[in-house]
Amino acid sequence: MTDYPVAEKFVSINGEGTKAGETAVFIRFSGCNLDCSYCDTKWANEKNCPVEYLTSDELAEYANNSHVKNVTITGGEPLLQRSLHELTEKLILSGHNVEIESNGSLSISELSKQENRPTFTLDYKLPSSGMEKMMNTDNFNYLNNNDTVKFVSGSLADLERALDIINEYSLTSKCHVYFSPVFGQIDPAEIVDFMIKHKLNNARIQLQLHKYIWDPEKRGV
Ligand code: SF4
Repeated sequence: MTDYPVAEKFVSINGEGTKAGETAVFIRFSGCNLDCSYCDTKWANEKNCPVEYLTSDELAEYANNSHVKNVTITGGEPLLQRSLHELTEKLILSGHNVEIESNGSLSISELSKQENRPTFTLDYKLPSSGMEKMMNTDNFNYLNNNDTVKFVSGSLADLERALDIINEYSLTSKCHVYFSPVFGQIDPAEIVDFMIKHKLNNARIQLQLHKYIWDPEKRGV
């Protein structure tokens, strides 16, 4: 059975995504293949980050004991874990809604074809992240209307690039589309103005709730 490197696990509320505001179990794996300029979880990606190695049975037991239906698997980059389907399947079969938060660089093809399929929230990394060249746009072929593409935007140039991608891949007719400001870098009102100006229907702005409820630097929330 696979051991997963867990940097932290906790119960909180979903700060973003379609289940924002609902309670959720968070499982954060250590390690990421990107290095975004604005990363707020760099600590979980450091080689010396303390981790607890847990099996899918142990993680499912933790989720079951919480009596919380939503489980968000995040990182770092969770798709770096081989056999991730072993964990997602176990959680789904025990009655959880499972969401994978991925940075958009690794293929979701295999996992999206599983019978017990999790939902995906994929980032599309915009120019200010410094990581746009790593994006895997083939993933857009595997999205359905429960999935989300999230554009974390830090500038007007980011918003304009997001608009190009939304149009090029018809994202608003395939899945949820969210804009999220890089905390402290762009006024959320600028995003709203942009959405109105470009008649962006079927897209939403979303603020990271946990950064408003708790100290923005606080972990484990
Ligand atoms: S993908 Fe996420 S975890 Fe990885 S460097 Fe970027 S923001 Fe940080």
